[in-house]
Amino acid sequence: MTAAPVLTIVTYHYIRPIAGSAWPGIKGLEVERFRGQLDYIQRHYTPVGAELLFAEARGEKPEWPARPLLLTFDDGYFDHYHHAFKEMRRRGLKGAFFAPTQSLLDRRLLDVNKVHFVLAAESDHRKLASEIDAHLASMLPGDSTAAIAGLHAAMRKPSRWDPAETVYVKRVLQRGPSADVRSAIAGALFRKYVSADIPAFAEQLYLTPAQAREMISEGMHFGSHGDQHIWFDHSSVDEQRQDLENSLRLRTTLGLKDGEYSICYPYGGYSAPSLDLARQYGFTLGFTTRLDLNAVSRDTKFLELARIDAGADVPSGADAPVSSWTKRVLC
Ligand SMILES: [Zn+2]
Repeated sequence: MTAAPVLTIVTYHYIRPIAGSAWPGIKGLEVERFRGQLDYIQRHYTPVGAELLFAEARGEKPEWPARPLLLTFDDGYFDHYHHAFKEMRRRGLKGAFFAPTQSLLDRRLLDVNKVHFVLAAESDHRKLASEIDAHLASMLPGDSTAAIAGLHAAMRKPSRWDPAETVYVKRVLQRGPSADVRSAIAGALFRKYVSADIPAFAEQLYLTPAQAREMISEGMHFGSHGDQHIWFDHSSVDEQRQDLENSLRLRTTLGLKDGEYSICYPYGGYSAPSLDLARQYGFTLGFTTRLDLNAVSRDTKFLELARIDAGADVPSGADAPVSSWTKRVLC
């Protein structure tokens, strides 16, 4: 329809009934709101699958519909199979799903998810921060006071989503002192506040490889989200390479189409070496958390696609007032 369409890509995480559920504190999207967003999207946009982007990246100049929009889902939650996929199939919509291999294939509970549920279980995040500092004081060698003060200075800052205390809890447990220390603290807090049966929790939280294959057979795209969900831009090149290599088993296990490999950088974190590695391992599309729309052309950086956030940036309801993001593609 148009030579250079502007593609909107939307990011989803948890989608579930939240109010009145066992986890009212989890940061996610109510299923009802998700359905309302699909109503809004179907009124103002044309949802497309990832195959159009792959074709464009190959230089095939595919025919784009008016106001294309790609729905993307991070982290491989059972929510995505049960709430998103089933609703999308009913409406004949496609989307792209990104699952870390440790959770999808090894059925291990990722630290990032332990932290989400600890934060949901204990609303006093200042208290959690203090408990983390107590763990750090007992685990770090020597006088840990200066090290902990350094972590506070670097990480206790509000973000687009969270107040400073919450950001501190997340950041220390995502990229604090060392992987071993972080994991030990996340595990201890999870067992204290959420559940002692970590394998059972993981089994319920993540969709399964069989469900992923079913989704693929219905036209959904699956891509890499790394192996352990690490921050690539805070990891050495060797650590990044190792994580990416470990994630490649996704391709054979799910029978992904050769030449249609995508990666969604965990936390949106990536650096120049990440892009080199992504090219080296045959990834064609890369999804970031850079907040923008994508003018699709020869100059598009297909490994650095921008996305908007479902929770903050997409209205719910066919009759909802049009957002500023939508106005940008309506003209
Ligand atoms: Zn993620």
